[in-house]
Amino acid sequence: MEQFKKYLITVEKDLNIVNCESAFLEYIGRERAGNLDQLVPPQDLIQLRNAIFAIDPGKLGLSCFRMRTSNGRLNWIAANIEKSDEMDETVRMELSDIQSLKSDNTLAQFDKMTGLLNKAAITEIAKALTEQYPRKSFYFALMDIDYFKSVNDTFGHMCGDEVIIDVAHIIRDCVGENGVVGRIGGDEFMVVLERVNDRAKVREVLAKLRETVESKYKNFRDCLNITLSIGTALYPEDAGDYDDLFKVTDKMLYRAKMKGRNRYIIYTKEIHGNVLQAEAQTAQVGQHAASEKEKIHLLMDFMDRFLHRTIIPIQLAAEQVLTAYDLDEVYVFFDDLSKCRYGISRTVVDKDNFTIDEKTIGMEFLAGEKFRRLFDENGRAIVNYHNFQKETTEKDEELFNFMEQKYRFMVAYHMKQAKQDGYIVFLNRVGSACRLSESDMNQLAFFGRMVELTSVDR
Ligand code: GH3
Ligand code: MG
Repeated sequence: MEQFKKYLITVEKDLNIVNCESAFLEYIGRERAGNLDQLVPPQDLIQLRNAIFAIDPGKLGLSCFRMRTSNGRLNWIAANIEKSDEMDETVRMELSDIQSLKSDNTLAQFDKMTGLLNKAAITEIAKALTEQYPRKSFYFALMDIDYFKSVNDTFGHMCGDEVIIDVAHIIRDCVGENGVVGRIGGDEFMVVLERVNDRAKVREVLAKLRETVESKYKNFRDCLNITLSIGTALYPEDAGDYDDLFKVTDKMLYRAKMKGRNRYIIYTKEIHGNVLQAEAQTAQVGQHAASEKEKIHLLMDFMDRFLHRTIIPIQLAAEQVLTAYDLDEVYVFFDDLSKCRYGISRTVVDKDNFTIDEKTIGMEFLAGEKFRRLFDENGRAIVNYHNFQKETTEKDEELFNFMEQKYRFMVAYHMKQAKQDGYIVFLNRVGSACRLSESDMNQLAFFGRMVELTSVDR
């Protein structure tokens, strides 16, 4: 991993630098170090003084500020600060120039759109905190705007951008002095609450954040509710290094989404169990899933067979799709919905193996009035049990009973042009590690379409 330039300095209470390496003098382009107030702009200096003030003697803290360097530029610095517990009240600081990886670009550590730290910078800060000794406990959070795609789809990308910027500012304001915030993806944010290690405080910050976003965007433009889902975990209590911390927190964000969004979930071992271990087990099953290229090859192969009229048994094709997309069950119905024509189900034997068995099942609800409304113009219907549980006002009881407790996700394709009216249904069970992307779901519908075309001649 590339490292940022780091310098160790010791300062007195008035920020006079009393000890530093010669490399630091080179870095600031001075013969004598002097006082930090000559290097750090006044507005950042206030923040630095506050950060130092907030640290208990013998403890560690973190601050971010800009510092004038030898080339006259202001570079962003992340500083690990250790307050001495001795009487002399000196403060040791490990300064990391978070711009040193991209020194030609003064704004390289910022996300241009929101002004927050970008992914590389916030990640480096979080990593630095998890690598310091003695360890200091802090909360780490990941957040993602709910149903953000519908903002883009309904009001356009520009409006989407405005919402991202506003939400970013709400997050920054609510986090305030408690930590640092970065944008790590389209509508995703990372927050390092480096000054928060008690549960009551993290609740207070996150609850305020959730409420502020919810109330600002309630009935947005008379049409949408925009909310935020948040996952959070405590370092080092919940995870011993940065990678695990990210994983546990991401799992909590995922849970927040699955439980109906607009909420924060704080990792609690007694409730959530050992999510890292669970992940190691399910990841093994996930390993069987094909790469994007392999999936496309599989579809092309089916298409080829279809065009050349080489018949591939539907059961076999379904098995290949189940394995490639890491699904749990696939069913094909023609005419009779009380009993599938072809059905397969995967049973996990152990972490490395699974078996695929034939299975017979009925799904009368597919032809029901309520379920029919779920199909889009391309004949595809998607049921996410958790959304459906919360959002569907007029609930399809039969579908609900079918999904309840057992299935997490369903993609159904209606084969209207087949010789007999037919459906193909792909299912993932509760607890599956698989997350189907939009492109996966399209590909599954495409597969359904091929079965449909093939069956015209059957
Ligand atoms: P979920 O509740 O599951 O998070 O649903 P979602 O619709 O928010 O889905 P997701 O978070 O997966 O999608 C984020 C979308 O954000 C995908 C992409 O189209 C959009 N996006 C990414 N970057 C930008 C951006 O810079 N501006 C705008 N307007 N949209 C963006
Ligand atoms: Mg989102």
